[in-house]
Amino acid sequence: MFIKTSLVVAKRMSYNVSRMKNKKGNDMSDRIDFKEIDDKIVEVKTSTEEDKDDDGYEKICFLCHRSESTAGKMIDLPNNICVCQDCLQKSFDTMNNMPIDFSQLSNTPGIHFMNLSDFENMMPKKQKIKKKKEGEPKKPIINIKDIPAPHKIKAQLDEYVVGQEHAKKAMAVAVYNHYKRVATDTMDDIEIEKSNMLMIGPTGSGKTYLVKTLAKLLDVPLAITDATSLTEAGYIGDDIESVVSKLLAAADNDVEKAEQGIIFIDEIDKIAKKRNSSQRDVSGESVQQGLLKLLEGSEVEVPVGANSKNAMVPLTTVNTKNILFICGGAFPDLENIIKERLNKQSSMGFIADLKDKYDKEKNLISKVTVEDLRKFGMIPEFIGRLPIIFTLQGLDEDMLVKILREPKNAILKQYQKLLSLDEVKLEFSEDALRAIAVKAMKKDTGARALRSIIEEFMLDIMYEIPKDDNIGIVTITKEYVEGTGAPMITMRGQAKLPVNS
Ligand code: ADP
Repeated sequence: MFIKTSLVVAKRMSYNVSRMKNKKGNDMSDRIDFKEIDDKIVEVKTSTEEDKDDDGYEKICFLCHRSESTAGKMIDLPNNICVCQDCLQKSFDTMNNMPIDFSQLSNTPGIHFMNLSDFENMMPKKQKIKKKKEGEPKKPIINIKDIPAPHKIKAQLDEYVVGQEHAKKAMAVAVYNHYKRVATDTMDDIEIEKSNMLMIGPTGSGKTYLVKTLAKLLDVPLAITDATSLTEAGYIGDDIESVVSKLLAAADNDVEKAEQGIIFIDEIDKIAKKRNSSQRDVSGESVQQGLLKLLEGSEVEVPVGANSKNAMVPLTTVNTKNILFICGGAFPDLENIIKERLNKQSSMGFIADLKDKYDKEKNLISKVTVEDLRKFGMIPEFIGRLPIIFTLQGLDEDMLVKILREPKNAILKQYQKLLSLDEVKLEFSEDALRAIAVKAMKKDTGARALRSIIEEFMLDIMYEIPKDDNIGIVTITKEYVEGTGAPMITMRGQAKLPVNS
């Protein structure tokens, strides 16, 4: 690889040299003095030019992957490639020591010179990383005085997320403690432990939504990944460390900012230990093992601008000590494990209860213990690193109706806003909302079903309404939602009429 790139660099240089030498009238067949050219190239960029395009990011050498602050000034080559002076010099030395006549080389069969533009698609688009400020004390992105108190965090979450009171409270306290820990860094001898979290709740109950809202209101970078795509290093799939490089990308390649961000790993139940499997479990238990050191806090080398490490991408070191990890999953079957445990406990001893006492119990999932999770297939070391465990409830009809209209950016509000731009008022009758919730409950995908149901019947409305300027109010009725009737249309200055009358 080094030789190949050296050839690329050297070819470019030799072209420039021959032009320079030609001008001077020198003999073209002379051996090239690369040292001389090297000096010339370094001079090309004057310091004022560089000051102008200083955007706070530093370049990374294409060959040795060291950053500008370590390797010194970079030499710009076409297609956003930069090389440090050491590597350039090494390339020249390599070429100089080769007993090859370059003028003959291009005619030799089997030898191709690569074109730098061939690299364009292989190069990560953003290869620069934010400069670390030398000398300045590392100041936390979050000031201890700016961290909102748990009740304020919860109040802000309330504006967007319906229900899930316990989850919001647990999250608010955990996040508050976590950022207190980050802001103080070291508290004398007492070191505060990390508050990584594990969220258990059915699909569409708002796990991702809670994390997204939280990151937005704290204004910290957030990376969301799916545990199913992760595999042990060396196997097909994303490397475990790719979760950190996603966070780095979310933080605009600013390492310091990324080091205080949040990583949400969804579908964590999919990396449970496979039962009765004799094969190597590269996407299950091994991923849990691999995540251990990230959760705990360690220095990891992550690729900048790509998901996996390869020769083409630069690496940088990120410390995960202050990154908050939140894992989430639906954990199907966990209820059975809990039920089994509870039934077993209650049917033993003198105060024995009915064997099936818990069979019909609602919200069983909230009784989860670490033991149940171990039985599910999570390894003890992994659960141990997620000290805050809480559950989310499955959404019922009432909650779905609330989700439709109450949150700050509720779906109904979004449609109302869209139609208000056409000066049309959109209303939903109470039983229409209930009918939508009933339909969504049947789909069993939580609040996620709401949007698709609404989108289905709103299509005609959004298509037809702008045709007629006289329409003043549209009322969505239960019949329209169920497909047995029409919405009520009110013309400007008229009484309400069904649309087909
Ligand atoms: P999951 O629990 O599977 O991660 P999501 O958080 O992705 O579910 O939820 C899907 C969508 O449903 C969200 O984008 C959000 O709009 C809506 N939603 C789910 N739960 C709630 C809730 N409790 N309050 C408000 N909206 C919710």
